[in-house]
Amino acid sequence: MSETIFTKIINREIPADIIYEDDLCLAFSDINPQAPIHFLVIPKRPIATLNDISEVDRELVGHLFLAAKKIAEEKGFADEGYRTVMNCNESAGQTVFHIHLHVLAGKPLGWPPYTDKLKV
Ligand code: 5GP
Repeated sequence: MSETIFTKIINREIPADIIYEDDLCLAFSDINPQAPIHFLVIPKRPIATLNDISEVDRELVGHLFLAAKKIAEEKGFADEGYRTVMNCNESAGQTVFHIHLHVLAGKPLGWPPYTDKLKV
């Protein structure tokens, strides 16, 4: 897959507000936050979309959720609640093709999350 802006963040080639890092993943604040708390948890090994994961990625994908939970606990919003989202491909709104878990918190989050008026 071609390199995305997230690889540049991992390699510190462009700045980001990095809030967590371990051997497998990195978490940093979203540049265009959709909630008072909004950060992304990404694997250091790039995978373009959720459609591209396979059995070998089972632990890595679980690791992203464990990191999100750990950060939520450390930052003190785990009990209040938060939302995790991973968009897959364009209809879901994916714009950066390096999988990432959005973590949103800090206000009541409406459900359903979409705002379009299309009937399903
Ligand atoms: P997607 O739309 O692919 O699910 O989410 C991509 C997210 O990456 C968006 O919420 C967008 O604001 C964020 N983003 C895009 N470019 C950058 C960047 O250069 N730095 C940071 N911190 N976030 C970015």
